Amino acid sequence: MRILLIEDESKVSDFVARGLSDERYAVDTARDGKSGLEFSTTYQYDLIILDLMLPKISGADVLRQIRRKNTTVPVLVLTARDSIQDKVGIFEAGADDYLTKPFAFAELLVRVKALLRRGPVNRASTIRVDDLELDRLSQQVKRAAKRVELTSKEYSLLEYLMCNAGRVLSRTMIIEHVWDQSFDGITNIVDVYVRHLRTKIDEGHERKLIRTVRGVGYSISDGSET
Ligand code: CA
Repeated sequence: MRILLIEDESKVSDFVARGLSDERYAVDTARDGKSGLEFSTTYQYDLIILDLMLPKISGADVLRQIRRKNTTVPVLVLTARDSIQDKVGIFEAGADDYLTKPFAFAELLVRVKALLRRGPVNRASTIRVDDLELDRLSQQVKRAAKRVELTSKEYSLLEYLMCNAGRVLSRTMIIEHVWDQSFDGITNIVDVYVRHLRTKIDEGHERKLIRTVRGVGYSISDGSET
């Protein structure tokens, strides 16, 4: 899951970004409304966290412009206590939820999870492909009812593949969703991680679920459609 955080206050931005990364989300941060808007149109996000008081372009204007182009991405607004009378306006502008500053990270996380669950793509808490099962609440993965231990990147990669089961995902799509914007490393990182996943998910099982589509990318499926 990839999240965009638009917040100019570095203290808040750092603490939210660090907390979300610890929870295995890929987080991009923007420090003003203009760059936030640019990020939101350049990359695909599963959620946007938006501060209202921002330099260059205000949060409310950013939100209106996001909604003009993208009606489905969930937006969580951060507001200062004195602007709470504006909350009707925030919802009218297209926010899905709001949080008043100062807030505890635990509360932010609950709202983030709730928004991601009800978001536009497959947000079911348990995703299954054949006998492979991924529980997004406990972040546990099982193959043939046996627990599979994954690192956090392996988990994120598998979650993205399973949310899009049956679709072929290019390496670029995978990098954009699973790694964050600071990533500019080796281009075969996806292949390396898919290899790790294969070892843990498919090795020792007769049915192989992870497929390579030569020249295109990867997909996960139970094979019934091919
Ligand atoms: Ca601010």
